[in-house]
Amino acid sequence: MTALSRQKLTQTRETSHDIYDVERIREDFPILGQKVNGKPLVYLDNAATSQKPQAVIDVIKTYYATENSNIHRGVHTLSERATRAYESARSEVKRFINAQEDREIIFVRGSTEGINLVANSYGRKFIQSGDEIIISWMEHHSNIVPWQLLCEEKDAVLRVVPINDDGELMLNEYEKLLSTRTKLVSIAHVSNALGSINPVKTIVEMAHSRGIPVLIDGAQAAPHMPVDVTEMDCDFYVFSGHKLYGPTGIGILYGKAHLLEDMPPYQGGGDMIKSVTFEKTLYNVVPYKFEAGTPNIAGAIGLGTAIHYVNSIGLERINAYERELLSYATEAISEIKGIRIIGTAKEKAGILSFILEGVHAHDVGTVLDHEGIALRTGHHCAQPVMQRFGVPATARASLGLYNTREEIDALVRALYKVIEVFR
Ligand SMILES: *Cc1c(COP(=O)(O)O)cnc(C)c1O
Repeated sequence: MTALSRQKLTQTRETSHDIYDVERIREDFPILGQKVNGKPLVYLDNAATSQKPQAVIDVIKTYYATENSNIHRGVHTLSERATRAYESARSEVKRFINAQEDREIIFVRGSTEGINLVANSYGRKFIQSGDEIIISWMEHHSNIVPWQLLCEEKDAVLRVVPINDDGELMLNEYEKLLSTRTKLVSIAHVSNALGSINPVKTIVEMAHSRGIPVLIDGAQAAPHMPVDVTEMDCDFYVFSGHKLYGPTGIGILYGKAHLLEDMPPYQGGGDMIKSVTFEKTLYNVVPYKFEAGTPNIAGAIGLGTAIHYVNSIGLERINAYERELLSYATEAISEIKGIRIIGTAKEKAGILSFILEGVHAHDVGTVLDHEGIALRTGHHCAQPVMQRFGVPATARASLGLYNTREEIDALVRALYKVIEVFR
């Protein structure tokens, strides 16, 4: 072999390594191979939940077949093995979001529970009558209702940052809302209804310059872009395992150690205590103080494996691929007459909400389902967003790391069918 051909071979190898081989990736997801209503499944509902790679399915099966045991309790071998697996999943999460310490990672049920934990623990201790909490107009109900409940209980006030016609947060209005009464800011990293990516670093800086802590709801960010809580400097960050190609029923609350230390427990029970008498109970240390009862052990292990899987492809590459696919989809869908895209922010993640003039979103969804296409129709747990844009509902195509241009083409063809049926 000549030096040149060897060099060429190396180059090809390197390039092929750089190529995002989506067909190869799809093979890791057994569910994607099936037909729905006689058509190949086109799964475009990733913002609701993502599909699971074989590695995640396998690790859960193996856990129950060979390791199942309660953690932090027995000295027996199985329990020690289960504890090790659970705690190493915690370390995997810590590295994934670049937290400083393992104990800053709390296993919860999902983003919803993470936000409720902060509202009930931090909120109940530190929010007083007349204090203000800032959220935004584009929040998921999970980042609205827990604060409403807290405000009701404490006689505090919820302030809402408006968004512009493109679905971007209005930073100048946010600035105006920040005051000495503000005690907490809680804002989405990425909107699940619009796809807008918020400038979280700026949002955090603006709050911190006034000494106000910030929670970032990362449910739609963690699966699509690298997240670095140290660089972002947020005080709390939440995300859900099931949107990150992991199991349901497991999610993460990240909190800065000193804040978690200052917070009272959210739920009482086993594992969150050091000692219990009827006179006085001593709480366990962080993070166990916040993990009362037997946790979702298999779920945590499954999440650790999902993170490992995502890392094996690389979030930078996933992000670049999805961005490219989003612009392809946006262009293709914009060409359809009568389509209005809801959410046209400059910085967007792979979410495409739209309405088709004269056709209810629900009917769009029904016709698409006949074509094997799964996407979400409705208010996407973000009713204020729908009100803001004056629509009752939208159809939402949301991308995952395994979606393809061919699937977008299928979506476009199906949308023309919808038009045929309803006009
Ligand atoms: C899905 C979602 C949530 C809630 O996540 P759960 O997994 O249902 O707890 C919160 N915020 C955003 C932005 C979401 O997309």
